Formats: sequence, C-alpha cells, structure tokens
Amino acid sequence: MKDENCIFCKIANKEIPVNFVFENEKIVAFNDADPQAPVHILVIPKEHYASLNETNDEVLLSELLLVVKEITKKLDIKEYRTVINTGKEAGQSVFHLHVHILAKRTMLWPPG
Ligand code: 5GP
Ligand code: ZN
Repeated sequence: MKDENCIFCKIANKEIPVNFVFENEKIVAFNDADPQAPVHILVIPKEHYASLNETNDEVLLSELLLVVKEITKKLDIKEYRTVINTGKEAGQSVFHLHVHILAKRTMLWPPG
C-alpha cells in the first residue's frame, strides 16, 4: 500500500524525479542523497513496507538481495557492505524498507 507521506513511495512512483540505477516491476534503486561512501545506493521495494519487520514476503526479500548482487555486478563492485536499518535505535530514518549498498572505501567494524 502506498503511503502518501513517504518520500521513498514518491520516488518509487516517480512523483519525485530521481535517476534509477535499477528498476523492475517490484524494485527500484537510486543513489543516496547524502552518500556515506563513494558508492551509496538504496534498493527499495516499490510497495510500501515501513521496515523489514513489516513483511514476510520471501520472494520480495530474496529479490532485494538478488538486485543488490545484480547492481554490484553491473558496477563491477566485488567488495561492498549492505545495511538494513530497522527501527530508530538502529539508525532507520526513512520508514520505507530499503537496503543500503556502500562501497569504494574501507569500512569499519563495529559500525557506529
Ligand atoms: P536509513 O537511515 O533510514 O537507514 O536510511 C535512509 C537514507 O535515505 C539515508 O541514507 C538518507 O541519506 C537517504 N535519503 C533520505 N531522503 C532521501 C531522498 O529524498 N532522496 C534520496 N536519494 N535519498 C534520501
Ligand atoms: Zn513508502
């Protein structure tokens, strides 16, 4: 279900123009507006789920990761970090499920 106030729904529905690095019938990906690495891409379902906790759609969830692999392969990126922040305490700030792809710099562990 579309959420009228959700910025990522607006992006997925092309109400806000953004260049997609990937699109299929269920998923889009685009560059993060505030990149935390030289490559910082967000992969999101077109369908609105506020967080990972809100869906058990195993096909969609596996497709999100397969799309991560497709994008990184296309960009010839072999080393990257994927992040899904779930909930405020975990650092989630946009409440529409998304997978971060971060690459092209050395990552630290543990994350801040
Ligand atoms: P979260 O903190 O929820 O895991 O990640 C949300 C991400 O969305 C942040 O990295 C933030 O920079 C990005 N973001 C927020 N609003 C927009 C927007 O309007 N456009 C784009 N491209 N990225 C956004
Ligand atoms: Zn949404």
